[in-house]
Amino acid sequence: MPQRISLKSLNTFGIDVSCSQLFRFRSEKELTALLEDEKIRSQFMVLGGGSNILFCADYNGTILKNEINTLRFDTHEDTALIKAGGGVIWHTLVEECVQKGYTGLENLALIPGTVGAAPIQNIGAYGVEVKDAIVSVRGYSTRTSAFETFENNECAFGYRTSIFKEKFKNEFIITEVTLRVSKKESPNTSYGALQEHLTSAGIKKPSCKDVFDAVCAIRREKLPNPKIMGNAGSFFKNPVIEKEKYESLIKTFPNLPHYAFGDKYVKIPAAYLIDSLGFKGVKRFDANGAQFGVHTRQPLVLVNYGGATGASILTLAEEIQKAVLEKFRIHLEKEVCVVRG
Ligand SMILES: Cc1cc2nc3c(=O)[nH]c(=O)nc-3n(C[C@H](O)[C@H](O)[C@H](O)COP(=O)(O)OP(=O)(O)OC[C@H]3O[C@@H](n4cnc5c(N)ncnc54)[C@H](O)[C@@H]3O)c2cc1C
Repeated sequence: MPQRISLKSLNTFGIDVSCSQLFRFRSEKELTALLEDEKIRSQFMVLGGGSNILFCADYNGTILKNEINTLRFDTHEDTALIKAGGGVIWHTLVEECVQKGYTGLENLALIPGTVGAAPIQNIGAYGVEVKDAIVSVRGYSTRTSAFETFENNECAFGYRTSIFKEKFKNEFIITEVTLRVSKKESPNTSYGALQEHLTSAGIKKPSCKDVFDAVCAIRREKLPNPKIMGNAGSFFKNPVIEKEKYESLIKTFPNLPHYAFGDKYVKIPAAYLIDSLGFKGVKRFDANGAQFGVHTRQPLVLVNYGGATGASILTLAEEIQKAVLEKFRIHLEKEVCVVRG
């Protein structure tokens, strides 16, 4: 029997699946050398920190693990330009910026994963999205077999999406991201929960370090640590619906919360929809007795209590999607990338 490689420690859900082969690349040169191999090129996927992925079966191809760890800061009068390799740990980059007193990424502290994956779903938290700091994204296109650079305005960034998640899905391997941060202390504290945390700590004029510490504290309190309980953060995106549809829905559901999203749309908190259907904290057992479910405090987070399969977690996700659609006529889109084999 050919040897299989376990992916259990390489995905934050902790799903016990395997792949046929796994290679790590530390430079663009190593990546292109790997892609010259027909067997690899015929079926491969790039993996960063495995924090936005649900493996539902063994992967019958090659996993290419991005470990390009280069990091360079070029300072200018008011700004600093960062060139970060795709394998740099995102939180390490945020920490480095905060240590240097650079503002722009502190609201995105403690988001797991790598720099290379950050533009894919345009990671966001506490009122900031990574697109706000991205200058350009460089990578290898398997369509053109060449390295290409996309300027910010060419990346089609949106709420948890980009050109790399849609049009060029699985076709563009991000090797380097260029970001611009400010050398001035001007952190963004517009997000309600963040503002409240800072106020209750008596901080009136927060530095970017204050914001970083506050974000870390809030996240540690609110989100389950994948090292203790398998999960991939929010499993679903917050649905964005047309204003007219919202006006019609509140006739039946007068308490339905919403946030403005441009002129024509509103964003509905997916957590509210899931909670109102009674899914918060549900626990299920799969055929082997392994437990999984919806987090007890965070209805958006599906959890593997240990030993569950990706397929059983996906079944629960689909049950939630169906229930939300039936009750609210709203489609819940998955944020997590599902790999079916
Ligand atoms: C506890 C927890 C909290 C989280 N909180 C947030 C949050 O607040 N905001 C948020 O936006 N996200 C959040 N996430 C989701 C996740 O951390 C991000 O989506 C992160 O960017 C994923 O990075 P990764 O390296 O782990 O990607 P992976 O899971 O390894 O990969 C995700 C997808 O991107 C592809 N990919 C990865 N690297 C590359 C590359 N270099 N080039 C091309 N394709 C690539 C993979 O093939 C896969 O399809 C959270 C996750 C967890 C577990």
